Amino acid sequence: MKEVLLLKCGEIILKGLNRKAFEDKLLGNIKRRLKHVADCEVNMRQSVIYVWIGENADADAIVDTVSKIFGINLICRAAVCEKTLESMQQTAEEYLKDKIATAHSFKVETKRGDKRFPMTSIQVSQKIGGELAYKYQHMKPNMHTPELTVYFEIRDEYAFVHSGAVAGAGGMPVGTNGKAAILLSGGIDSPVAGYMMSKRGLELCAIHFFSYPYTSERAKEKVIELAEIMTAYTGRMPLLVVPFTKIQEQIREHCHEELFTLIMRRFMMRIAEKLAIREGCGGLITGESLGQVASQTMPAMAVTGAVCELPVFRPVIGMDKEEIIKIARKIGTFETSILPYEDCCTVFTPKHPNTKPKMFKILEAEKNLDVDALVDEAVEGTEVIYPKFKAL
Ligand code: ATP
Ligand code: MG
Repeated sequence: MKEVLLLKCGEIILKGLNRKAFEDKLLGNIKRRLKHVADCEVNMRQSVIYVWIGENADADAIVDTVSKIFGINLICRAAVCEKTLESMQQTAEEYLKDKIATAHSFKVETKRGDKRFPMTSIQVSQKIGGELAYKYQHMKPNMHTPELTVYFEIRDEYAFVHSGAVAGAGGMPVGTNGKAAILLSGGIDSPVAGYMMSKRGLELCAIHFFSYPYTSERAKEKVIELAEIMTAYTGRMPLLVVPFTKIQEQIREHCHEELFTLIMRRFMMRIAEKLAIREGCGGLITGESLGQVASQTMPAMAVTGAVCELPVFRPVIGMDKEEIIKIARKIGTFETSILPYEDCCTVFTPKHPNTKPKMFKILEAEKNLDVDALVDEAVEGTEVIYPKFKAL
């Protein structure tokens, strides 16, 4: 039996004149993502995207992949039938036979996109519903709370039968709102922050600050793995690994311990901004959450944000750790994030970090460092990795 996915788009429908560009982006994203999974034809008609599932393709893997693509609100996995009552009923009986065998109540719902079809939606539902009720007497018709709803969609070329939609990933197609750089540590919060902004239509590039040998090769591998998991949602996302050891050593040598973390975070933002601009990004994203640690108080964020001009998005700023963890579990990054490899932030952590930093003290301390040269050297030494697409 030939199967198809009918994908219903979300917010892009609202986009008036830009709609065509949005739809093209989404179609392109779906085709590119599915290339890794199976050979299927993808096209669009009247705001519905069709993914035609090939004979031997792994339909479950296709559904799983599509369910992570932003810009899709609903996914119906359906069987294709001829546009005749006989074919529609017969296909429904065959396609939904397990569900028909166990359901105690049912109803039929029909949507007629092709107005040339000679019966109304209600007539189709009544006719096929009556036949099914007669044939499968254990299933009682129930219009309000049926266990099984048999949906027919009659469209231009074919009719389709399915038993209901599942939720898509929502959001806007990746790339429709430009590109931004996510500062990706090995922790729980930053992958979630990246996921959230990608959901708003941003294409991402990831930046990781790496302090070898204070942080190990395993810590870097963990970040690559996180990036690979994220690509199921974000699509292609280069990972820029910045050599950060020298900067940390210089700060430790020349600056007061209580300012260490803030000065380090200011370096991260400066370097991230340069790399972001080089990569064509219009913003930075971090996983900061207000008050979570000393460097995430409001005054601390003012000090770290002050070094860059690009907008800094902090999508988890108002979320509790528990809420962030819930998303991390849903997107599959949590188990990797909690692996015990240290992050460069935990190396040289001051015993008494300053939570109410004074800008003049920071500026004073930075005079002891050749900031521009250190930034340029780090940017030049940055390695670019292309994380593999990872279907979960
Ligand atoms: P996370 O769970 O994302 O690591 P965190 O609670 O550990 O966050 P911090 O270590 O203070 O918080 O880092 C705050 C943000 O700074 C991170 O969410 C991330 O965006 C960025 N960041 C921190 N360390 C690094 C790093 N080594 N490489 C890239 N970005 C980093
Ligand atoms: Mg961290």
